[in-house]
Amino acid sequence: MTEKLEHTPKSCWEVYGDEANLAAMEALAARYIDFISTCKTERETIDYVVERLRAAGYTTNFGHDLVYRVFKGKTIFIARKGQRPLSQGMRLLGAHADTPRIDLKQHPLYETCGVGQAKTHYYGGIRKHQWFSRPLALHGVVVRQNGEVVKVHIGEDAGDPVFAIADLLPHLAQNQAKQVLSDAFEAEKMNIILGHRPVDEVKDENGEPAKDSPKERVKRRVLELLNAKYGITEEDLYSAELQAVPAGPARVVGLDGALIGGYGQDDRICCFAGLEALLAGEAPEYTQTLLLWDKEEIGSEGSTGAKSRFFEYCVEDLIQAWTPSARFSDVMLNTRAVSADVHGAMDPDYQDLHEKLNSATIGFGPCFCKFTGHRGKYEANDAHPEYVGWLRGVLNDAGVPWQMAELGRVDLGGGGTVAMYLAAYGMDIIDFGPAILAMHSPFELASKADLYATVKAYSAFMQA
Ligand code: MN
Ligand code: MN
Repeated sequence: MTEKLEHTPKSCWEVYGDEANLAAMEALAARYIDFISTCKTERETIDYVVERLRAAGYTTNFGHDLVYRVFKGKTIFIARKGQRPLSQGMRLLGAHADTPRIDLKQHPLYETCGVGQAKTHYYGGIRKHQWFSRPLALHGVVVRQNGEVVKVHIGEDAGDPVFAIADLLPHLAQNQAKQVLSDAFEAEKMNIILGHRPVDEVKDENGEPAKDSPKERVKRRVLELLNAKYGITEEDLYSAELQAVPAGPARVVGLDGALIGGYGQDDRICCFAGLEALLAGEAPEYTQTLLLWDKEEIGSEGSTGAKSRFFEYCVEDLIQAWTPSARFSDVMLNTRAVSADVHGAMDPDYQDLHEKLNSATIGFGPCFCKFTGHRGKYEANDAHPEYVGWLRGVLNDAGVPWQMAELGRVDLGGGGTVAMYLAAYGMDIIDFGPAILAMHSPFELASKADLYATVKAYSAFMQA
């Protein structure tokens, strides 16, 4: 048989254009839209994953074959025992469950100019102007000093109020319009409006404002409402993680409904695709591991990020439970891994920022990124060609379309993922995930066909 000399990536719409595949694609997309509409924080994502794992028979007891461990409610290690011993390595898929957003500061509440506001500190790489004058929801937790964790969730149900950061009117924006974008939108001006109606003034017997009448009556009302709903006080907010995220559900986009628009698809689309692949697969030859991390968007730091020792501790316990004689280094060195993260798709309006031969087209399948990093591959995990060759074969054998790209033109683009932290163990790893339009925006766009192909690709990898 002669091999084809030229290579052109294939559209998923061609590969999966038959009725059976299209029906399965729609069913998958519906589950996914429900997932990203509901899960907008790392904690909510982990809760969802645990619920599906438990329904599939997974337990926290490492003595069993289907196991998981959650850490701090924000990161999860999942393993499914294979027929081969652990010392021959795992098939590992790592994604991240955190997303760029607007966090409330620890002492957030104040009032001014007739409105009650909350101070914020953004999390991750946002374009600040995208967050003004749009409905926001508040998700998160408040921890009382007795340790009780109160879940906050306002702005998603039809009857809920939403919140907003008011943008400047164009009539007063003439100076701002001349500034460079990075100066024009100040982080300290991203304050979220939480309320407007004041509590009644307390009067003394002479009809004058009483001494104990609250000075900031709009803020007082916000506190009263929070207290009535959640039983919390202003001091409780010091031990809170409250995240402002775009309000409302994900939607299908386009007359054909072929795209999915919604918040947090970087990287929940890979969390979801990895979970679907893990749960649907046959009894595997190699142990399959799915890791969902926190803090990727701020450099994978902290005890729940990919730089932490959590993963290591889990593997040590897995070895102890399954094959105590296995060496930790053998398990790690023999593991083959995918850093399941999204790629920036070629933007139809900014094609000049991409280098077309090495860019990803939405709808053409999950995308390999051999190296991330920036400016001369600095801080990149540069995957070994031997590994890329093996993976190509796996996907081609499974008939799954794939593509390979860099993030933007050399010296213009760049970024980092969790890949290099896993590569440190000596395992083979490469970045691999669907290409997204408007990445890191409040309304990211993904292709239904790419989602479908990505689940198939992750399945093929985990079964290989
Ligand atoms: Mn990502
Ligand atoms: Mn990201």
